[in-house]
Amino acid sequence: MRNPKCLKEMVIITNKSNFKYPLKMLSLFILMLYSTLTTAQIKDYSEVVTKKADKIEQKVIDWRHDIHQNPELGNREFRTAALIAKHLESIGIDVQTKVGVTGVVGILKGDLPGPVVALRADMDALPVEEKNDLAFASKVKTMYNGKETSVMHACGHDGHVAILMGVAEILSELKSDLKGTVKFIFQPAEEGPPKGEEGGAYLMVKEGVLENPKVDVIFGLHMDALTEVGQITYKPAGIMAGVNDMKITVKGKPAHGSSPWFGIDPIAVSAQIITNLQTIVSRNVALTDNAAVVTIGAINGGNRSNIIPEQVEMLGTIRTLTDADEAFVLRRIREVVEFTAKAAGASVTLELPYSVRFPVTYNNESLTKMMLPTLEKSAGKDNVSLIPAITGSEDFSFFAEQVPGLYFFVGSTTKGANMKTIGDHHTPQFLMDDKSFKTGVKAMCNLVFDYMEKNTQ
Ligand SMILES: [Zn+2]
Ligand SMILES: [Zn+2]
Repeated sequence: MRNPKCLKEMVIITNKSNFKYPLKMLSLFILMLYSTLTTAQIKDYSEVVTKKADKIEQKVIDWRHDIHQNPELGNREFRTAALIAKHLESIGIDVQTKVGVTGVVGILKGDLPGPVVALRADMDALPVEEKNDLAFASKVKTMYNGKETSVMHACGHDGHVAILMGVAEILSELKSDLKGTVKFIFQPAEEGPPKGEEGGAYLMVKEGVLENPKVDVIFGLHMDALTEVGQITYKPAGIMAGVNDMKITVKGKPAHGSSPWFGIDPIAVSAQIITNLQTIVSRNVALTDNAAVVTIGAINGGNRSNIIPEQVEMLGTIRTLTDADEAFVLRRIREVVEFTAKAAGASVTLELPYSVRFPVTYNNESLTKMMLPTLEKSAGKDNVSLIPAITGSEDFSFFAEQVPGLYFFVGSTTKGANMKTIGDHHTPQFLMDDKSFKTGVKAMCNLVFDYMEKNTQ
């Protein structure tokens, strides 16, 4: 509500200024001059970036084909890391290797002072056998968990690496214009390290990748099979879910299946636990604010129809979109599991998290707002759209937990393709259109320039 006193004062001032017309004109002129000057200070590099992205496009495609044909699993990205390090060194970027096992970090110091902007690409492939008929299809096999397994870049990380190599080359050519430092983070093991090893973004953060020089903001992208080439999608705040996994071990008392009253049936108790867990999302979570998921994906116990076993083991996954929801859902799970078992006289062990915890991938809201015009400039305003949160997860979240981050998606499927029949991520038919990478190259370069321009005085 407007304060009537202020309104009165405004009227008086306006009346006064009517008598001082030349003074009013002078103030207007000063204001216009100031705004012209400040606009001029924000230099737009998008045209030069587009030209350079066009020029480097084939090189990016060739790198991606090469990496696609030679995929490596998490913490084993030796060839990929060597290729990246060699390229960064060849264009005058300072390189650190073996950060977080096989990670590569490049530091490009611009000629002008300013913030430190990190760009991240993940490097690892998956234990999937490629079924695409391509000249550069993967035929690689390796040992995975003690078994020979086919390996394929079935998530698009080959594209992420090639894009960031291209971005590094463009930015190094424009070093004299850079108002700040760019830190290129090539990260291993986004899909998870092998059993018994640490890895991924978590380990890089632990080893200090965001320090020396201290990173101010971080940008990351993921190619998206369900979006067409040339499109960018984004969402402020929680864009991808935080994940926790859990293991529940219910211990009862064995008995003959014909006389259950002599025992405590862990199968019946497990069934109650599963049912009660489902009420956390349906009855406790404020679903109109944010979605959440509690899934039991495995249940193992017993081996005969007429024996009540001693114990049942269950594995599950939990997805939440805010830190508060994560804390709340985890607390409810602990309560439900403990008290359901107690009510039946069984004992229970809950391991939560069991082997995985990723935070929510959180897009800093003011950073997203600040950089949205840059995404729109890179892909065209009509090609950038807001999406709902995704209940999949991404370990970029470990970086964005420490410094403001923005993570977005770049369409990778050929225009006009039937989205119902294309190969999705993590499938043997996953395939990205070669034309998709240029949008990523442009977006990353423009984000660096625009962020530096907007945050340097
Ligand atoms: Zn993946
Ligand atoms: Zn991925």
